[in-house]
Amino acid sequence: MAYDFITKRLFVEEPLQAGGSISLSPEQANYLLNVLRLDNGAPVLLFNGQDGEWRSKVVKDGKKKGHLTVEEQTRPQTPKSDLTYLFAPLKQARLDYLAQKAVEMGVGRLVPVITQFTQVRQVKTARVAANALEAAEQCGILNLPEVDEAKGLAEAIEALEPDRRLIFCDERHEGDPLAALAALKGERLALLIGPEGGFSDAERSAISARPQTLTISLGPRILRADTAAVAALALVQAAAGDWRQASPDR
Ligand code: SAM
Repeated sequence: MAYDFITKRLFVEEPLQAGGSISLSPEQANYLLNVLRLDNGAPVLLFNGQDGEWRSKVVKDGKKKGHLTVEEQTRPQTPKSDLTYLFAPLKQARLDYLAQKAVEMGVGRLVPVITQFTQVRQVKTARVAANALEAAEQCGILNLPEVDEAKGLAEAIEALEPDRRLIFCDERHEGDPLAALAALKGERLALLIGPEGGFSDAERSAISARPQTLTISLGPRILRADTAAVAALALVQAAAGDWRQASPDR
């Protein structure tokens, strides 16, 4: 299926159908009309997580206001990613980056976890969600990833479904991650990346004690947490995730 990577994409809450009209919020109007300088008739692709992707056209209602007329469906709705990502929050700019990269890498649920050595203990969930939305609009997915409120590591692990495999990235572990991950095809997965200060021994044994935990190494070097996130997500998607699918499942 041809996929339009060029046309701007916007997430909207409203239902999408042919002939529909979507009023733009002041932020959306400013973004489309002033930042992108789109004019009357310019195309915008819309998605809302239910109705697939639709082509629409800009209609200006003055300098600062506008709406979109919905024309035709360009892609049917696809299922939301089931991949869960547990991560120790980082300082703001790197957290913004982390949220965006996680969505681009196919994460469906972001779970900030507070661990013993976590530096940042207050997480602006709305800001993480805003970064996730921006990345969803840019990378072509048709769903909005979920962003949980930050919670303690033990509570977050406890909340995982019993059948969900927890992939624990541990810098003290050795062994070939690809071979280990390849055995997980088709399983429900969660990925855990620690803080810059790493995990405490008590946390390590608690994580490893969970039956459905697979510990992996990300190679012989200590990666910074945001590097480790992208590296681990690439491994997971390549070995057991959606990079293996024949056609794009966005
Ligand atoms: N302070 C820790 C240390 O010196 O041992 C390093 C923590 S590292 C900066 C942050 C997180 O990235 C780790 O908790 C782990 O989840 C992941 N990570 C980094 N390098 C890794 C590696 N080589 N193998 C597995 N996980 C790694």
